[in-house]
Amino acid sequence: MSTETVDSMQHDNEPHDTKIGQKLNWLRAGVLGANDGIVSTAGVVIGVAAATPGNVLAIATAGLAALVAGAFSMAGGEYVSVSTQRDTEKALIEKEKRELAEQPEEELRELAGLYEQRGLTPHLAMQVAEELTARDALAAHAEVELGIDPNEYTSPWIAAVSSFVAFTVGALIPLIMILLPLGEHRVWVAALAVVIGLLLTGWISAVLGGAPRGRAIMRNVVMGGATMVATYGIGLLFGGIVG
Ligand SMILES: [Zn+2]
Repeated sequence: MSTETVDSMQHDNEPHDTKIGQKLNWLRAGVLGANDGIVSTAGVVIGVAAATPGNVLAIATAGLAALVAGAFSMAGGEYVSVSTQRDTEKALIEKEKRELAEQPEEELRELAGLYEQRGLTPHLAMQVAEELTARDALAAHAEVELGIDPNEYTSPWIAAVSSFVAFTVGALIPLIMILLPLGEHRVWVAALAVVIGLLLTGWISAVLGGAPRGRAIMRNVVMGGATMVATYGIGLLFGGIVG
């Protein structure tokens, strides 16, 4: 998740402490990853099960392949995007370091100006800027100017591994349920488990985002349901043509 989205998602009813905010964002990303895993794997296994209802090997293979492909794709995407973001942040910090070394006076005025823009009187803004500069000039500039904590970059590996795990956990729900020895009922049991999973992820996302719960849950279940109906239809169609 990009920092812009993160910032725009912070509302008054959320903790403004950035550390808590970051933890919530990780949790949100995890829930979204799990949601992806549930929906995409459910779509694949239900489609294959509709086409070849008795072929457990085909269902298991397709489901496992969907799980692995999805988890790697999510992890890779996350790795690339967080690495790029981190490179950008590091470059900005380096630039700020140079500016602080080469023109400390201008940088102090700039910092005071930024505090003025935030509503402090010129006198107080200069006092705040001076005190923060004396303590840790780079951290002060990084925070106010760039919105970055130079001591705490997000790790692309952690981001990648967590989305891999989140997707896998979600994907296991439809995969395990459809492989239970339930014969012709397997599709309905898996679909029911998926709906319950989506109720849960929708509810957790709504709570974390401070959004109205009913609508968020409804949207989540409807989107997942539509996916399953679509792939079930495709499965029936192709199963009918080939079989
Ligand atoms: Zn600066």
